[in-house]
Amino acid sequence: MRRIAIIGSGQAGLLAAHGLLRAGHEVTLYSDRSADDWLHRSRPTGTAARFEPALAYERELGLNHWEDAAPKGGGVHLTFCPTTRNRLVTLAGRLGGSYFQAVDLRLQSHRWMHDLEARGGRIVIERIDPARLDVIAAAHELTLVASGRGPLAELFPRVPERSVYDRPQRKLAMIIVTGAPPSFDGVPYLPVKFNFFAQHGEAFWVPYFHRDHGPTWCLLFEAKAGGPMDRFDNCDSGEAVVAVGKEVIRDLMPWDWPWARAMELADPLGWLVGGVAPTVREPVGRLPSGRAVMPIGDTAVSLDPIAGQGANHGNKMVRHVVAAVARHGDGAFDADWMRLTFEAFWADHGAATVRFNNVFLEPLSPAGKLMLISQYGSDGRSETPEQRLADAVVENFADPRRITDAFVDRDKAQALVEKLTSRSWRSAFAAGALRVGRQQLRRAVGLTQRHPLAEGP
Ligand SMILES: Cc1cc2nc3c(=O)[nH]c(=O)nc-3n(C[C@H](O)[C@H](O)[C@H](O)COP(=O)(O)OP(=O)(O)OC[C@H]3O[C@@H](n4cnc5c(N)ncnc54)[C@H](O)[C@@H]3O)c2cc1C
Repeated sequence: MRRIAIIGSGQAGLLAAHGLLRAGHEVTLYSDRSADDWLHRSRPTGTAARFEPALAYERELGLNHWEDAAPKGGGVHLTFCPTTRNRLVTLAGRLGGSYFQAVDLRLQSHRWMHDLEARGGRIVIERIDPARLDVIAAAHELTLVASGRGPLAELFPRVPERSVYDRPQRKLAMIIVTGAPPSFDGVPYLPVKFNFFAQHGEAFWVPYFHRDHGPTWCLLFEAKAGGPMDRFDNCDSGEAVVAVGKEVIRDLMPWDWPWARAMELADPLGWLVGGVAPTVREPVGRLPSGRAVMPIGDTAVSLDPIAGQGANHGNKMVRHVVAAVARHGDGAFDADWMRLTFEAFWADHGAATVRFNNVFLEPLSPAGKLMLISQYGSDGRSETPEQRLADAVVENFADPRRITDAFVDRDKAQALVEKLTSRSWRSAFAAGALRVGRQQLRRAVGLTQRHPLAEGP
């Protein structure tokens, strides 16, 4: 049994606490919020939709309390618009039998804190600063910092080459809403509805499980500065974000307006505006005494939510760290161990996740364009070559190690298209381009566009 301290009661800290406790260690979790603070006086720190590899770990730890009740998302429905009001391509990809779920982090942390105490873990409600962290680290064999993107993260120097960006790439607005229908007409599974504007940013609607209302939706707007989606700056309440969000949907995504028209804010704290500077940090933080502490979750790697990877990545990292603790026997948890543990995770999962996430922050690459056009025609139903490609794209969200290379490397994209469509990449691309061209022609002559699962202006 090792004596381990964890700072932070979000997704990463609590999961690590449960994982380590189950492995037989003595765990103390320090949190600036109590379970009741989480439930009644907090904003959710994100949407945190999670895919099977991340959900599996929660299940293993007996923390999947909402699995039956929360909506089960079956895939993604994406609409790509090179300019506003021009739907060029749609993609309807499925998750191949598994699902994603997004549970209100306030409800989750509240319950997981109570679970931790009931299982024998210790919780201390206290806001920790570096001096206090030093005292805690002295009293424990290993101290993990899971305090999210807050000030304690500054203990871990940013790694510029892994971080890629030095500032937020999007202006974010998130709202949790009731009143929107629980599905999308014609889409044969419950999707993340993703509207992608090449010039102005992205917007997506995620099936969600709210602390009071249960099945709801979480809407996220990812605006590029200065564009027509960039309208949330003056919002100082959730109602204001909903009102602006409705305007944005009506103006830029009229196809989703009938679905969004009746939506209302789910609770006064169910919203966020801001931005995330994508950041990868050093796996070792030095305290005033010279003692070493290790970051996990967002403290180690924080990602723009554009591809829904932050919490997924955090879960995978926690599983990796908990397994590394078990393998280490009686060894010291020194800086070398922290570095080796993180680097093994980075090589296996981290680098691929960051790379995949960054694909969505950048303009569409030639490789991405090849895949997007070649899959056009996927309808989430048929077993066609286009569907196989669309499914592969969506399954990469669950595990970015699968085909992230094909999003950035043209040769890999060509090989993937050929493998999944059983035809030359040129002919797959030409067939998709022809279908796209037909709809553009209809648009040019004022006829309604007819995309799979989506007809209209
Ligand atoms: C708008 C938005 C949407 C997102 N959508 C998704 C998605 O769909 N899928 C996905 O996988 N990820 C998503 N993410 C990312 C995901 O929400 C985060 O990666 C995840 O919640 C981070 O968990 P964490 O435990 O590392 O940090 P946090 O959730 O930030 O938790 C850290 C907690 O530590 C505590 N704490 C902080 N400082 C101290 C201190 N000094 N002393 C004591 N306690 C302290 C606080 O209570 C804090 O809440 C999204 C993020 C945002 C912003």
